[in-house]
Amino acid sequence: MTSIYSYSLEDLTSKMISMGQSSYRSKQIFSWLYKKRVHSFEEMSDISKAFREELKENFSFDLPEMALKQESADGTIKCLFRLSDGEMVEGVLMHYEYGFSVCVSSQVGCNMACKFCASGLLKKKRGLTSAEMLGQVLFFDEMLRKRNPEEHVTHCVVMGTGEPFDNYDNVLSFIRILNSPFGLEIGARHITVSTCGVIPGILRFGKEGLQINLAISLHAPNNTLRDMLMPINHAYPLEKLIPAIIQYGKDSGGRRVTFEYILIKGVNDTMDCSRELARLIAPTFGYVNLIPYNPVIENGFERSDDSQVELFHNFLLQKHIKSTIRKEFGSDIDAACGQLRAKHEKNG
Ligand code: SF4
Repeated sequence: MTSIYSYSLEDLTSKMISMGQSSYRSKQIFSWLYKKRVHSFEEMSDISKAFREELKENFSFDLPEMALKQESADGTIKCLFRLSDGEMVEGVLMHYEYGFSVCVSSQVGCNMACKFCASGLLKKKRGLTSAEMLGQVLFFDEMLRKRNPEEHVTHCVVMGTGEPFDNYDNVLSFIRILNSPFGLEIGARHITVSTCGVIPGILRFGKEGLQINLAISLHAPNNTLRDMLMPINHAYPLEKLIPAIIQYGKDSGGRRVTFEYILIKGVNDTMDCSRELARLIAPTFGYVNLIPYNPVIENGFERSDDSQVELFHNFLLQKHIKSTIRKEFGSDIDAACGQLRAKHEKNG
């Protein structure tokens, strides 16, 4: 039985019409789920008993269960969630000056095998349903509201385990629920989807008419280095990726992308790399988010020296490339993507 939380408002409206109801019914149900936060059909008191019974026969209330929680001294909270088939995924809550952001996983494991990523060690088993992604946000949102009624999740990044465009339809429905005024009402500009560079997904996403932010995990300024760090580059090399990003900008009404760039000592943090990077992305008008590497797995990679991070950053700024160095969260817990789940699997 499908979880009611898997339905975007548009999909639920079609479903209600197919069940002989008026289109208004879906808004009524959304209001119970996301405004009044009820957890059963019985509580939906303005719906007739007979139709509540019908709803019970057609939908479940399944959401992931929180199985393990780690809290960092800086307030970052990382949870392992158990899905209905026993699989585990991670979600992370981070506290910024501007609000609370949840980093959501979109798949169980990941097939992209990026060399610097703990998630890539665990092969993809399946994509998450939109309810399984939404459950990660709802858990943190309800936790915050209980702590302080003024607090709630304000931002969401689909940047945890998984390649979102390898699970496109479910990710899109999840985003629609987050963004809907009848759903969680998180503004489109507060939602970011991060891809390792799956070109068909980028092109499709540009035509959705959404104002969602797109981030590209780039991590290398040339094919030789990117082939080595990110095997996806063999399928979608830079000479195809960059034009696809430019096309995305045109289709999406001028949305700019953010390039994620993990700095690994002596690998991709040299001044030559900085020069190549500036040249490569200049035509996209994108921003660069520099991320000093957090060594989590035994792959021989080390974190760049702070002085090198500064030099790399300053060079980009000199070349008029907007760039920031990402603030670190949860360095005292297993906060890197895939780390907590990898450890859990290892320990059984
Ligand atoms: S960085 Fe993202 S796309 Fe690459 S292996 Fe990790 S989860 Fe997958």
